[in-house]
Amino acid sequence: MRIARFTTGDEPSYGVVTGEVDQFGQPADDSVIVALAGDPLYVGIKLLEQEHKLADVRLLAPTLPRSKVVGIGRNYRAHAAELGNEVPDEPLMFIKPNTSVVGPGDPISYPAQTSELHFEGELAIVIGRICRDVPPEKATDVIHGYTIGNDVTARDLQRKDGQFTRAKGFDSFCPLGPWIETDLDPQTFADGVSIQTYLNGDLKQDGSTKDLIFDIPTLVAHVTSVMTLLPGDVILTGTPEGVGPMEIGDEVEVSIAGIGTLTNKVAQR
Ligand code: MG
Repeated sequence: MRIARFTTGDEPSYGVVTGEVDQFGQPADDSVIVALAGDPLYVGIKLLEQEHKLADVRLLAPTLPRSKVVGIGRNYRAHAAELGNEVPDEPLMFIKPNTSVVGPGDPISYPAQTSELHFEGELAIVIGRICRDVPPEKATDVIHGYTIGNDVTARDLQRKDGQFTRAKGFDSFCPLGPWIETDLDPQTFADGVSIQTYLNGDLKQDGSTKDLIFDIPTLVAHVTSVMTLLPGDVILTGTPEGVGPMEIGDEVEVSIAGIGTLTNKVAQR
């Protein structure tokens, strides 16, 4: 099931997106979104007798992290190497504030403080309920589903600061979407799911989730051994190799097979 948040101009609603997506993650022209009563994280899936053509609604970030987005650094060997880093011996965590989250189609704002703004296409885990100290074998119990994230990073500020808060924390530095796919499981990603990033239509990142150093259950266990996660919180699982710069006016698309495509443009802040 694909769960989206959307607006037709009024108050945002949640809905279920029907129809197939093609190999590029684009939905069929006749896709519709069936509205839900309330937030499915709190009231479950209650379909309303109200539907819209997908083309007629504006999709929003599919989750509002109640407290935080937890990022994982250097979780693909080839990406760690391309930035001259060693692979960590346990997951390397950082936090992106929930104010960095924007939705599909929203602009990524290029701040004046950087001159090296990078895309990082990533698989995002959406947490379904309050949880702490989750053992790996119970991880799926607390996962609501999966979406696509772009861990936008001011690379020059990351190098300068020696830590990640500013470089990854600006408003709009965490595009999420286009929806949450609830039918995938950690084993599917361990077996290998394609994750690709295109800049102005050119393929820049071409990875597979089978190359994740720390797998999804390990990440959920590791993060929740440190901090409580709340419904809607997100874990970004790390980016494959091929990160690179974006300029004002560029369009960046992140596609994950079986989920869809997240598209955003870069704008002057
Ligand atoms: Mg990242």
